Amino acid sequence: MSKVVLVTGGARGIGLGIVHAFAAAGHRVMIADLGHADADWNYNLADANQVQEALEKESAVGEVDACDVDVTNFESCQKAVAATVERFGGLDILVNNAGIVNSGPISEFDEGDWDKIFAVNTKGIFLMSKAALEALKASGDGAIVNTASIAGKEGNANMSAYCGSKFAAIGITQSLALELAPFNITVNAICPGIVGTAMWLEHLIPSNTMDEDKKNENFEKSVTSMIPLGRPQTTEDMGQAALYLATARNVSGIALTVAGGMTMS
Ligand code: NAD
Repeated sequence: MSKVVLVTGGARGIGLGIVHAFAAAGHRVMIADLGHADADWNYNLADANQVQEALEKESAVGEVDACDVDVTNFESCQKAVAATVERFGGLDILVNNAGIVNSGPISEFDEGDWDKIFAVNTKGIFLMSKAALEALKASGDGAIVNTASIAGKEGNANMSAYCGSKFAAIGITQSLALELAPFNITVNAICPGIVGTAMWLEHLIPSNTMDEDKKNENFEKSVTSMIPLGRPQTTEDMGQAALYLATARNVSGIALTVAGGMTMS
């Protein structure tokens, strides 16, 4: 049966992979993303509508639409949920995927960056889930999927803000799984390993070239040897995992690692 899905951070990267997976399975998907530029964090995204057009050109896809959301703002979250309910008649699945990264030693790490990372990666899950709660209850068959990370299962040097925000995302996932089970709402997380999105290519891989091919080549080289299954993860891998977790009706409270065997918890 076709479900209504809202994907935050759905305009590019992993979120877009999740949008594709749900749309290809015949679900109706609202792509919710920043409608304004955030140049400091390299989020210059007014292109959610282009995504919608591209998806509509593919054969055998469910319906898609796009709306603005800033997950750090409760009113904006409420508006995105209302836009979804108005457009598609309800909401069954919320994918809290929006996220940002910054790294650096604690001695130099900026307090404002710490707050911003937690505002998006952690509080954003709280605000969106709260805004969507009544619609998910009304669904009778609701699901929340949070994009956490392998960084939410093991710490990394110079990544205390990001890792802390993702450990918290898993804690929220487990708590809401228990709290919302009486409403038949499942709550799970995916923990991506290494996916070659802007998060890696623009933020985490130090690069001295703006040549896109070189950037991709450097990324492949530096991560492949770390991954037992021999390749970085793809946005399609994440779409597949999110679709599974959102539709498996007796799975709740898990944080599913999708990392090619690199991490086994
Ligand atoms: P990305 O930068 O390509 O996508 C992030 C998306 O989130 C963007 O579309 C951005 O506009 C959106 N976003 C940022 N702030 C927002 C806000 N305040 N409100 C709404 N949307 C906002 O990066 P990605 O790799 O696709 O990341 C997606 C998720 O996957 C994030 O939660 C990230 O932490 C997680 N993740 C990524 C990797 C990886 O290897 N790329 C690994 C583990 C986890």
